[in-house]
Amino acid sequence: MDILEILNKKRKKQELTKEEIEFFVAGVTSGKLKDYEISALLMAISINGMTSRETTDLTLAMASSGDVLNLDDIVGTKVDKHSSGGVSDTTTLILAPILAVCGLKVAKMSGRGLGFTGGTIDKLEAISGFKTELSEEEFKNNVNKVGACIMCQTACLAPADKVLYALRDQTATVESLPLIASSIMSKKLASGAEVILLDVKCGRGAFMKTQKDAEQLAKAMVEIGKNAGKKIVAVVTDMNYPLGSGIGCALEVNDAINVLNGAENNLADLSKFFASKIISMATGKSEKESKNMVENAINSKSALKKFVEIVSSQGGDALEVEKLALKTEKKSFILTSKKYGYVADIDAIKLSKIVALFGGARTEIGGKLNHKVGVKLLVSVGDKVTSGQELIEVFSNKKLSSEVQTLLEESIIIENKKVKKPQIIKKIID
Ligand code: URA
Repeated sequence: MDILEILNKKRKKQELTKEEIEFFVAGVTSGKLKDYEISALLMAISINGMTSRETTDLTLAMASSGDVLNLDDIVGTKVDKHSSGGVSDTTTLILAPILAVCGLKVAKMSGRGLGFTGGTIDKLEAISGFKTELSEEEFKNNVNKVGACIMCQTACLAPADKVLYALRDQTATVESLPLIASSIMSKKLASGAEVILLDVKCGRGAFMKTQKDAEQLAKAMVEIGKNAGKKIVAVVTDMNYPLGSGIGCALEVNDAINVLNGAENNLADLSKFFASKIISMATGKSEKESKNMVENAINSKSALKKFVEIVSSQGGDALEVEKLALKTEKKSFILTSKKYGYVADIDAIKLSKIVALFGGARTEIGGKLNHKVGVKLLVSVGDKVTSGQELIEVFSNKKLSSEVQTLLEESIIIENKKVKKPQIIKKIID
């Protein structure tokens, strides 16, 4: 087979065969194909798209390009949730203990953040001592013993995706539906869960800017999952505004602990909705029954205790979690409202840029970050505020630059007229 023939076909909008796709993925994984050959096909796919059959074949070839986790030694139903990436999105840390308390098994491989999107692994590393790199044996033992374990995706999981993702980042081909769908789903299929909930974000703080694009991506991923024999659902959710109140690793873990302690907010509502949906899919229980199980897990503090157990089992400092005392930099500034009115907008991207300027977000693969910096919202969209009311707290070890000051002031808009609270759940696709 010849890569030039494959490139020519896709350039002419023709459908690639399964064998051609497998040849391409094998060449990516082995290093036989040159970066310019791979990048040319990525660009042709970005421009001319792929049929649903091609996307499934690409996903399956990527999923089997490395280790496929065998979770058969784990007793119980293995469930997973994946977010397409957002700002202040900490649902995994809330879901894992709730689902474990409800008798399900959460064997979760997560990634690190890149650009404006936060990563679960970075957040967990804000807890002193927390180990995210485990052997497969430790991982499975923890899941069997505790009910949940969250570890960093290994380099052997879908290695073709690593090469493709890095090249997409450098060739403006990240935002292509078949490429995002195959990237996410190849890792989901390789990590072995039987029940999967996909949180597909849409809005300015997401890869998919419009609801229409997010729905298309959701449909493509659900189709791939079903073809691979998984129970799968996708929920399209809003990512124009940060989901929680903290942006920055330690602050986001504190948000999750607050929800497990009974706090009511958008992050709590969405996490409880996801947990009920997963329980219902995994057990066949009604949505109402599943919802009650979730409420009980939180109200009885069993889910909070389970989170402490997960943290201890992975070497983390349980006391920090119990005391809700994850270390942050000192509070260095508070933005207050200049007028009376209603919060009309909170810009997720501007706030995440501030956190990146403080060193709290990753700007390149493998880059280091400061887990203790961040910003904390004291209000949400639709809230009524008075003049002088505190809106945003800043946690940083750096002097506030004029760039940060401007971003901070522009990140929140107060208007005179009443503003409706945004709807977070946009559509469910199953
Ligand atoms: N997350 C992934 O894992 N891959 C993408 O392409 C986008 C988001």
